Amino acid sequence: MAKVRLATVWLSGCSGCHMSFLDQDEKILELAEKVELVYSPLADIKDFPENVDITLVEGAVANEEQLELLKKIRSCTRILVALGDCAVNGNVTALRNVLKSGREDVLNRAYVENATFNQKIPTQVPRLLERVLALNEVVRVDLYVPGCPPPASLINYVLNELLEGRTPVLENRFKYG
Ligand code: SF4
Repeated sequence: MAKVRLATVWLSGCSGCHMSFLDQDEKILELAEKVELVYSPLADIKDFPENVDITLVEGAVANEEQLELLKKIRSCTRILVALGDCAVNGNVTALRNVLKSGREDVLNRAYVENATFNQKIPTQVPRLLERVLALNEVVRVDLYVPGCPPPASLINYVLNELLEGRTPVLENRFKYG
């Protein structure tokens, strides 16, 4: 039987959600028998593939490169999961949204005001968006798994339910859309 094609994506987050994914410990070996990991920072695959069954997305959308990647992910993925609070609602990644003049303020603060030498805004980085976006501000999200990070047991439960073709039952406050 063909394995379920699973992707995990790291946008603007701290990688803590991926660490929690790895904290499934030996249960991850059981998962590995049922899925094929087709894209992930854990596997260093360069291009997001077609025909992905489940994609877990950690982090919010903070720059133009991530915006385009998320649209591509949506078009290639059957079930898109917002994994963790940054993906669900922006969380700490979106704290910069309170700055009045957006992108320019952020770059100045990081590379000029807080720099002790070589105070210069780099040009070789993806262009920041004016404000950080939660995933559902860009694309349709099929399932929200909140937490900072979501516990490994919750990630394991969600994945196993999806692999069995069931909708994971999360508490009502976790069902946003
Ligand atoms: Fe890190 Fe928490 Fe954001 Fe996950 S939700 S990327 S653990 S800050």
